[in-house]
Amino acid sequence: MLSTSDNVGKCRPYPWLCPSCGKKEVAPVSTEYTAEVRHDGRLHTLHIDDLELPTCRSCGQTVFSTRVNERISDALRSELRLLTPGQIRAAVSELGQSQKEIAERLGVAEATLSRWVTGSVIQSRAMDNLLRVYFGIPQVRYALLGEGQERDFGATLVAEATTPGDRTYGEEAFAKVVEVYGRAAILHYVSGVAARHQVLRMR
Ligand SMILES: [Zn+2]
Repeated sequence: MLSTSDNVGKCRPYPWLCPSCGKKEVAPVSTEYTAEVRHDGRLHTLHIDDLELPTCRSCGQTVFSTRVNERISDALRSELRLLTPGQIRAAVSELGQSQKEIAERLGVAEATLSRWVTGSVIQSRAMDNLLRVYFGIPQVRYALLGEGQERDFGATLVAEATTPGDRTYGEEAFAKVVEVYGRAAILHYVSGVAARHQVLRMR
């Protein structure tokens, strides 16, 4: 029999009181854990070889503590190859944009981004893709402007983009970048760079 308890403390010393029989006999047991877990509307079989599962030595009741639930979520993210909360948190922090601004540009609620960062919710595959391109490709960050989005961006296919690989590039390349990403996007990028006291050199 399973029970889920989110309010079980992470570091409370064992043994714990059993929620089923009331005896103070709950201690972690290394368990081979297999479960069907739903994500994005599909069931995935999840297998963990050595889940430290708090279990009552008297009646066998298992307790899904916060730590256990986190371990299961971590295993699911790993199985599905989704970004971990730690990776998302690190990227947000390194980027120097607020969670509010990033959420605005991605088109999600700030609370939603916050839940991905804390790990209380696992992002969908589509949102994971969006996070990956946003963090992984600078051009995407120049191009996604939230509600101030360029009207024509993405409306026509761009076969190959000229990319500002480093911060020094010629006028011709810059004109191409403006053409591809839109003037507002570039000005936004440039002002962002200036705001962070970095130098943008244009020859
Ligand atoms: Zn018990």
